[in-house]
Amino acid sequence: GDIAAKFYLNYQERLRQMDQIKEENERSKSALEAKSRFLATVSHELRTPLTSIIGSLELIRSGKIGTLPDTVEPVLDIASRNGQRLAALIEDILDVQRVEAGEMVFSFKPLDVNHLLSEAVDSVSGYASKLGVRVTLHLSAEACYISGDRNRLNQVLGNILSNALKFSIEGGTVTARVERVGDRIRISIQDEGSGIPEGVKDRVFGKFTQVDSSDIRKVGGTGLGLYISKQIVESHNATLDYVSELGVGTTFYLDFDPLRDADSSGQPPHL
Ligand code: ADP
Repeated sequence: GDIAAKFYLNYQERLRQMDQIKEENERSKSALEAKSRFLATVSHELRTPLTSIIGSLELIRSGKIGTLPDTVEPVLDIASRNGQRLAALIEDILDVQRVEAGEMVFSFKPLDVNHLLSEAVDSVSGYASKLGVRVTLHLSAEACYISGDRNRLNQVLGNILSNALKFSIEGGTVTARVERVGDRIRISIQDEGSGIPEGVKDRVFGKFTQVDSSDIRKVGGTGLGLYISKQIVESHNATLDYVSELGVGTTFYLDFDPLRDADSSGQPPHL
């Protein structure tokens, strides 16, 4: 009887502990949700005044409201650049909130992957030449169509391409490629940059994480880009991953299911 009583007491104690843990988990979960809602509200409220500040700076820079001494221009450039950075951070925070609340809206359309990647490469070409990095584009000879949200995928490719450029050394090459791999369509972005150490994949795709904190000052960033990118890609039923070697470079790749034209006439889907 003694042992059974002891066992019963232990059992009761265990149950109590489990309830307590459950309660704590729920409390911290709702605290996290409250925190993320708060961040989203603040970000949203920051947007309007910031847009106005950026607009005013642009107006001053345009010279339409009077000429300024030459010495002012570099200062205005700094203000503008930082305004843009802040705006990008706010958009990222809002995207994280959208993703986590399941409120990110996608508009799926047939997309030509060759076209999608060319467009994304075009839009970073200015940045690339400023950094002295060459971008080469290898498109697929056969037509590759997927179903996707053009703006959101542009955002993902822009993010990965600008990371590739950001972590490249001057004179390096970034290679952007579209190819068939098995029955999937792969977009890959290869750089000859610093590489990513082993065992940090969770952090690379995590929130607010930069693998080497000393990078922050050297190459700015929010640490949100790849987190958001992965969520967007996975919403396309596709995968985002990378392979990397320190000092050699990194290749990020996205694998999509091709769009199957059910009663395929051999023609590409209407765009
Ligand atoms: P951010 O670029 O704003 O820091 P990301 O989420 O885009 O945030 O990237 C997270 C981190 O992953 C980067 O800070 C960097 O440490 C690492 N990383 C991403 N892409 C590369 C790359 N091509 N080469 C080396 N490190 C990279």
